[in-house]
Amino acid sequence: MVKDQKFYDILGVSPDATEAQLKSAYKKGALKHHPDKNAHNPEAAEKFKDLSHAYEVLSDPEKRQIYDQYGEEGLEQGGAGGGMAAEDLFAQFFGGGGGPFGGMFGGGMSREQGPKKARTISHVHKVSLEDIYKGKVSKLALQKSVICPKCDGRGGKEGAVKKCAGCDGRGMKHMMRQMGPMIQRFQTVCPDCQGEGEIIRDRDRCKQCNGKKTIIERKVLHVHVDRGVKSGHRIEFRGEGDQLPGVEPGDVVFEIEQKPHPRFQRKDDDLFYHADIDLLTALAGGKLHIEHLDDRWLTIDIIPGECISPGQVKVIRGQGMPSYRHHDYGNLYIQFDVKFPEHLGGEDGTPLSEEQIKALESVLPPRTAATSAPPIDAIVEDFTLEEVDHNREGGRARGMAGMEDDDDEMHPGAERVQCASQ
Ligand SMILES: [Zn+2]
Ligand SMILES: [Zn+2]
Repeated sequence: MVKDQKFYDILGVSPDATEAQLKSAYKKGALKHHPDKNAHNPEAAEKFKDLSHAYEVLSDPEKRQIYDQYGEEGLEQGGAGGGMAAEDLFAQFFGGGGGPFGGMFGGGMSREQGPKKARTISHVHKVSLEDIYKGKVSKLALQKSVICPKCDGRGGKEGAVKKCAGCDGRGMKHMMRQMGPMIQRFQTVCPDCQGEGEIIRDRDRCKQCNGKKTIIERKVLHVHVDRGVKSGHRIEFRGEGDQLPGVEPGDVVFEIEQKPHPRFQRKDDDLFYHADIDLLTALAGGKLHIEHLDDRWLTIDIIPGECISPGQVKVIRGQGMPSYRHHDYGNLYIQFDVKFPEHLGGEDGTPLSEEQIKALESVLPPRTAATSAPPIDAIVEDFTLEEVDHNREGGRARGMAGMEDDDDEMHPGAERVQCASQ
């Protein structure tokens, strides 16, 4: 006993018809009602469609079983299996890998409201610190899809593009699959039109786009890298992205990324510079030269007796980065490292002479507690220092240096430099 007899009636057979009977009934009816033979009879076209649909169902044993059991409703709902939402599936088929940019439709396809929009083309634009300091205009070439100018995006001659009959222009077809006791209904790309929803005869196909409706064009965009712009800044070109038939053109977005610089580190509008100076300059003064970002050299006076200590940070105000969209500059912070000499005294390794020591004592602060003599009654043993064997004890020597790095008494600014250098 079948639930619904409609499809059998359309074909003019009984519900217990064999496959051969179904086939011959369809052939007979299809030939009679084919639209080519009934150009002035719209009813025939309708009848032809019904016949095709009925036969499509009943000729498939799985579908026929569902139809017999649940009727047309069962085919629509597909038992308990359900299936993906049409939009999800559509996005899955057309969202990844179609077109030159790996899928024209982005998240926009799943939007509930608003017109469909082609996917945004995003590009990270890497810029040198020099260019950010001075500002520049980058000319960036882009390959994008544009509506074919020859066929205006139709894909062929006017009137030559026909809606696909196999899928009724949707590009997708319903299929059924038995999964144990469940019937799963799912969609697949229409094989007649390869998911296009349209059929164009080869001779009517547009020669320029080969029926694809769009062509690839090279477009040069002028990207303004403003002075002082920061990494992560986005420059948008609305509607300059891909063009596709029936959807809003996509956008192009450039994201600024500052390249690392060999001399300077940047934090917001401030620059950080690491200067290695010798002990003589640190104590007796001299000049430090820094090549800036705009071809200038800064000459910095270290005043005799200013006494720069290792790790100390000094600042030159207004020599940092220009502030983005402000007529202002950040600061240039300089962290010093003082290179101590390996040895003082004679070149042959002899110690300092009495006069040299006296000369140093005359300018340097006096010796402190750790280096002054022990109490009168102390038991005293004499030692001299040895070099650390770096092959065997190098780790220990470095460990000591590490302890120094953790020194709390470091200048507060020094910490900023270290953060910036990580
Ligand atoms: Zn074309
Ligand atoms: Zn189709």
